[in-house]
Amino acid sequence: MDFRLSERQRQFVEETDRLAREAFAPRADRWDRAAEYPAENVERLHEAGYLGMTIPEAYGGQERSLLDVVLAIEQISKYCAVTGRVVVDTNVGALGAVMAYGTDRQRDLLADRILNEADKPAIAMTEPGAGSDLGGLATTARKEGDEYVIDGHKHWITGGSVSRTYFVFANLVGEDGTDRGIGGLLVDADAPGFEVRAVEDAMGVRGTPEGELVFEGCRVPAERVVVDDPENGFKKLMQAYNAQRVCATAVALGIAQGAHDLAVEFMTEREAFDGTISDLQGPRWEMAEAEMHLQAARLLLYRAAANARELPNNVMLPRRTDTSVVKAHGADVAFEVVNDALQMFGARGYSKDYPLERMLRDVRMFKIGGGTTEVQLNGIADAIFGADDERRVQLADFADDR
Ligand SMILES: Cc1cc2nc3c(=O)[nH]c(=O)nc-3n(C[C@H](O)[C@H](O)[C@H](O)COP(=O)(O)OP(=O)(O)OC[C@H]3O[C@@H](n4cnc5c(N)ncnc54)[C@H](O)[C@@H]3O)c2cc1C
Repeated sequence: MDFRLSERQRQFVEETDRLAREAFAPRADRWDRAAEYPAENVERLHEAGYLGMTIPEAYGGQERSLLDVVLAIEQISKYCAVTGRVVVDTNVGALGAVMAYGTDRQRDLLADRILNEADKPAIAMTEPGAGSDLGGLATTARKEGDEYVIDGHKHWITGGSVSRTYFVFANLVGEDGTDRGIGGLLVDADAPGFEVRAVEDAMGVRGTPEGELVFEGCRVPAERVVVDDPENGFKKLMQAYNAQRVCATAVALGIAQGAHDLAVEFMTEREAFDGTISDLQGPRWEMAEAEMHLQAARLLLYRAAANARELPNNVMLPRRTDTSVVKAHGADVAFEVVNDALQMFGARGYSKDYPLERMLRDVRMFKIGGGTTEVQLNGIADAIFGADDERRVQLADFADDR
């Protein structure tokens, strides 16, 4: 067991921190106020090689590890969470599923879009009638000749309105009407019968649009089906999605570290009671507690990334229970750390002239998006009380028993 980052990773962290501090921090407020996609930041990320870092060299990428991606996301999200989320969506999510289960053509297509067009693929699972209970999806994709016809309605789809490519979860129906279970297809933004009907007026992370998608007789070529496996399709989709959950937690902990750093700076400058706030025992202890929780959450995050199961095409699938522990714990810690940091600023923390209120709104989503905290707790409880052999491995074994 080695808890140290390599020299290369430390340098990468420093470089990424510098880029984000200089290029992304100054305008983080703008994307929030205008609810505007940070296109200029995406271009900077693109030029600097942060989009599609995990893509295998054979498809033109750098084949970087999940831990490298997590490190980059954390640094960027300290200064601008919406920009951090772009790094998530261009490195795992739909890309991970396609690399794991897709065809060579699908891999080429997505790699090309991310690496050459700076596309940020979206994952479209959630529906008005199916959120936590994803098994209740109503969207269908019916095979007709060499096409699939999609009908359904999705909401809260991150990137909806700016993404060129959508990875859509649907109930697949064979040509003869047979139910093939939940699968996944790639749909282009300009596919006939597809429309982004609206964008949510969200509380936080407002620079990444949350779209409402409508599919009415939407036709895509049959070769766009990535997962069609009546036995294991849903399980495969969820396994690939674990990488997204781990990386989303890197955004949350990045925001928290950013807020913590700002509070330290403010507390050492703000004068009160013949000294500064940083001299007062109560606030010092609060900050020490926050530091402890942040360090513990970060270790869990790095462990889940480093311990991910490796598949061909540089696919890294974090284990199920690791993922739920990281996400539920990380989202709670991140929220509390930002909330405490805001408190250190007094009234200024409550003002839109300071970044803390935005950071608190941004960090709140991680208890909901990507599977709620309650749903993650269900998963952890299932592992504790489940009878399967996986239980011992999932809960206790941090070694290479994958
Ligand atoms: C900012 C943001 C971005 C998002 N991005 C995407 C995206 O890109 N793609 C996508 O597909 N979806 C996305 N979502 C949707 C998100 O994944 C869902 O909102 C989430 O899974 C919860 O579903 P729901 O909102 O329908 O809540 P519900 O499932 O209706 O849950 C309501 C409440 O009941 C609780 N609950 C439900 N079932 C259980 C249970 N079995 N045990 C205990 N408690 C339970 C929940 O935890 C929650 O507190 C996003 C959401 C947000 C807020």
